[in-house]
Amino acid sequence: MSLLATTAARLTTAVVDLVLPHKCAVCGTVLGHERGLCAGCWSELRFVVPPVCRSCGVPLPGAGVASPICGLCAAEAPVIQRTRAALVYDGHSRRLIVGFKHYGRLSLRPLFVGWLQRAAGELLDEADLVVPVPLHRWRLLHRGFNQAVLLAHGIAPGPEPRFVPDVLVRHRPTVSQQSLSRRERRTNVTAAAFRVAPAWRSAVVGSRVLLVDDVLTTGATLDACARVLLAAGAGAVDAVCLARVTESHKAPI
Ligand SMILES: [Zn+2]
Ligand SMILES: [Zn+2]
Repeated sequence: MSLLATTAARLTTAVVDLVLPHKCAVCGTVLGHERGLCAGCWSELRFVVPPVCRSCGVPLPGAGVASPICGLCAAEAPVIQRTRAALVYDGHSRRLIVGFKHYGRLSLRPLFVGWLQRAAGELLDEADLVVPVPLHRWRLLHRGFNQAVLLAHGIAPGPEPRFVPDVLVRHRPTVSQQSLSRRERRTNVTAAAFRVAPAWRSAVVGSRVLLVDDVLTTGATLDACARVLLAAGAGAVDAVCLARVTESHKAPI
């Protein structure tokens, strides 16, 4: 966006702020001068709170262990060294995120960015590169923006860590799936879906990368991105998401 367009957008927002009262981003209740969510919608959100697995970030029962690890990560270290999420993915957080990415409620972005920064904590402090999970080109055309790019840029607005939106490229798998087993197909699809852009190859080598996405369900997408980055020479890969599935937690594949 040009400086002129940015200034015009800010002026428009400022004028709208003066004229119209803010509404809750979920239910539409008038909030007055506050931005964000009404008290009722706030109280329904479930934030991920410690203790969590030090590696995959899944909430663990009980307290008192300084740096707990879940059974799955203890049995086999995940490809992504540390994963963190701000919210538990349920009906409420889903409504919020769907509003953001499918209905363009971009006023939620500052709220989401604050939650992500808190959830990422030391992952953000220690990262060299902050990389959003890319969308397919056709999906980007359809939606007009990549929500992961907006979130990743929001949490890393300065020079350090470096926000790099185009390190990963997402494309359709080209390898024939016909002769593969179901498990092989899944591995093949995810591994073939991403590549590191040639222009960023040297920057990736030896870097600690923080991947950013909106929702973690099976973890397959983030895992595929991490594998591609590590194969390109990244030193380590962490991930932070706005919300994650916790009930049917599966080992990252
Ligand atoms: Zn509300
Ligand atoms: Zn774990």
